[in-house]
Amino acid sequence: DTNSGSHEIRELDEDTVARIAAGEVVERPASAVKELLENSLDADASRIDIAVEDGGTELIRVADDGRGMTESAVRAAVRQHTTSKIDGLEDLESGVATLGFRGEALHTIGSVSRLTVETRPRADGDGTGRDEAAGAGTKLVYEGGEVTAVEPTGCPEGTTVEVADLFYNTPARRKFLNTTATEFAHVNRVVTRYALANPDVAISLTHDDREVFATTGQGDLQEAILSVYGREVAKAMIPVEADGDELPVGPLESVTGLVSHPETTRSSRDYLATYVNGRAVTSDAIREGIMGAYGTQLGSDRYPFVVLFLEVPGEAVDVNVHPRKREVRFDDDDAVRRAVDSAVESALLEHGLLRSSAPRG
Ligand code: ADP
Ligand code: MG
Repeated sequence: DTNSGSHEIRELDEDTVARIAAGEVVERPASAVKELLENSLDADASRIDIAVEDGGTELIRVADDGRGMTESAVRAAVRQHTTSKIDGLEDLESGVATLGFRGEALHTIGSVSRLTVETRPRADGDGTGRDEAAGAGTKLVYEGGEVTAVEPTGCPEGTTVEVADLFYNTPARRKFLNTTATEFAHVNRVVTRYALANPDVAISLTHDDREVFATTGQGDLQEAILSVYGREVAKAMIPVEADGDELPVGPLESVTGLVSHPETTRSSRDYLATYVNGRAVTSDAIREGIMGAYGTQLGSDRYPFVVLFLEVPGEAVDVNVHPRKREVRFDDDDAVRRAVDSAVESALLEHGLLRSSAPRG
């Protein structure tokens, strides 16, 4: 055995450990986009422009007009476990209002990419006019886990984060990336979900210099659907509105949103956008409830367009299973399934869109 060192137990160096951890949190471009988009929403942005190149593998740029950061804040933001959003475990348990809360996204993304942050705090602070100076913003460059430059810069209020060359220093992870089209499909799905849930924020998505969609930020859900999916789909949507009184006994407070006419479908589950307490999730119980309501109206392997918001008491659901995962766990799956089924079925029936209302098994 010439390679005697290979059986020794060795400690991994810090960089390697950091990159392994990063790969668990940032799986692909879409996971970085999700974290950056959540940060912009948490920063109270009213417009967020997302541009990606090559499915996000070459470049991801998320620009917002949110509250921005001071130089010291942006320096702190890229360190591990730094967050302005919670103080400790107590805050986590009491349920935090913001989306991110572990203080690891920027640090993690920056350890497997070349990250640039340009940021400038909103001027509505002390009114001294100091922020009007040309260098009122800060540009910070973070590469492979190290701050390599910090300098003043002239930039608009808000924050622009650029992630270039994702996984450049983790070739194994980079090899796992799919085709540009597939990676972009994941990015598109993430941005679509947030755009539909936040019609009061103008959100745009551009891929390789082509605008894919842009919402106005002025509208309601119906208008966001028009911007994202186009006129044909928007015209085919009908409202779902059920609260506690109309729902079968269960843990749900309300089910609201829009679902499509049974003839306006796709052969992919991507168009089932479902939310629990405002957070985009996937759930077998919710999907089965939806599909049950349509019953045999849908062809095999066809799925409607759905944007459905469930309000559930905090104790009946666990949404914090893992920061990366979108699955939720309910105490009572069956109650959720029945409540969703009944809410969607009533909407379809009211619009005369079910052939028969014979009870199903
Ligand atoms: P978390 O979101 O869990 O706090 P992040 O690593 O995503 O952790 O961000 C760290 C901190 O950087 C945030 O708590 C926030 O204070 C700041 N930050 C990140 N992105 C933005 C942004 N777009 N606008 C303003 N502040 C931001
Ligand atoms: Mg975050």
